[in-house]
Amino acid sequence: MPLTVAIIGSGPAGFYTADALLRSGMAIEIDILDRLPTPFGLIRGGVAPDHQATKKIIKKYEKTILGEAVQFFGNVEMGRDVSIKELRAMYDAVVLAVGAPGDRKLTIPGADKNGVHGSAAFVGWYNGHPDFTNLEPNLDIETACVVGNGNVAIDVARILARSGDGRARTDLPGYARDAIDASPIRDVWLLGRRGPIDAKFTNVELREMGELTECSPRVRPEQLPDNIPDGLSDRRRRLVERNLDTLRTFAAQGDDDKPKCVHFEFFAQPLAVLGGERVEGLRVERTRVENGRAVGTGEIFDISCGMVVAAIGYRSEPLAGIPYDDARGIVPNSNGRIEKGLYAVGWIKRGPSGVISSNRPDGIIATEHIMADFDGRGEKSGRPALEAILAERGVRVVSFADWKIIEAAEETSAVGDAPRRKFTSIKEMLALLNGPQGS
Ligand code: NAP
Repeated sequence: MPLTVAIIGSGPAGFYTADALLRSGMAIEIDILDRLPTPFGLIRGGVAPDHQATKKIIKKYEKTILGEAVQFFGNVEMGRDVSIKELRAMYDAVVLAVGAPGDRKLTIPGADKNGVHGSAAFVGWYNGHPDFTNLEPNLDIETACVVGNGNVAIDVARILARSGDGRARTDLPGYARDAIDASPIRDVWLLGRRGPIDAKFTNVELREMGELTECSPRVRPEQLPDNIPDGLSDRRRRLVERNLDTLRTFAAQGDDDKPKCVHFEFFAQPLAVLGGERVEGLRVERTRVENGRAVGTGEIFDISCGMVVAAIGYRSEPLAGIPYDDARGIVPNSNGRIEKGLYAVGWIKRGPSGVISSNRPDGIIATEHIMADFDGRGEKSGRPALEAILAERGVRVVSFADWKIIEAAEETSAVGDAPRRKFTSIKEMLALLNGPQGS
């Protein structure tokens, strides 16, 4: 009997796991479940809408799912439509690849004011994620503060600062493009609580900030260090060198007539969000870095702004019936193995860090655990049992063929240079599938 595996989550971690399992040579049947009707997780809902080249990775993932051995069960939510207990009874192995869909919260006074958004919500909004289409951020503002010095903070700043022309080639949903196009926003402050050496953004993303047609990056030369301290790994040192070169280039640029600016403000720790019900500003304390940590200097300044986006990291959420390490925000696991029959990959395994390809080793390691635990022999029926329980519960499963119908409709209705016009509501996707074109 083939080994049956359910992978929960169809983002990169889920697909790399399916790929590794297929390559293992075991007789295997894999079902990939996703609570959304659309596959690919953060590739669709997290990768920036102006980074279409990055999204092409899905063509590789598609190859994984085209054979009979792998099936997609979209619109099926573990915990709502089927429990983990049921899945474990049906499948030999269950692999959690559910990512980290929540935000690390800004916990300063005023963080609950209107106009403060976490990056998961804000990025989800401009990516048309069905959970966040109702966010409706007020962009009738001239200045925004983005807290954080990671790639997500850079993405958010760039999406706000990119020209209308540049946005037309993206798959920003219409509501987000209209809101950003209509926004009088001119200044975006990018706040790092530590210095340029500690910034987490990668160099390609940083350099892109200097290539925008309507926006100039502003860097204060006095915030750039003369030397890089000892003790960094070679890889980290190379990245820091490249970032410092880029930041020096930005700092040396004189004033130009571009209408927007992204201000890199390092050594700046938010203290409080100012205003009444709505955000009117951000109070910030100047820091210095001691032993790798940001320490307040007592020097306080305010930045007047109408929106604050906290891009300070993502966070996974506890899953019913599965232990959760609240302090680390992960499912406790031993390099991906929770116990025989239950495994974790990607951000739920190791926290929200790394780029897309960082998930590949997780899939390989989970496969090694599964091979060792089962010796290639399965006992549980898997797919027929899942299909039966979902049919009994009236769940409208979205197959991969269904997804291709959604995808074709999105591509056909794209306007101008946009690659697609995303469906942003699950109801609309299901209506399409249940209509004449659907299966
Ligand atoms: P991240 O890389 O971990 O960056 C989080 C940032 O928030 C850090 O600068 C951190 O500063 C700061 N921060 C954390 N807590 C804070 C607080 N309380 N106050 C002020 N600042 C705080 O996280 P991310 O940007 O969300 O990205 C998640 C992962 O996705 C990363 O691995 C990223 O590279 C990846 N990603 C990649 C791309 C791409 O390749 N284009 C695009 C998007 C995301 P400290 O360093 O001082 O803690």
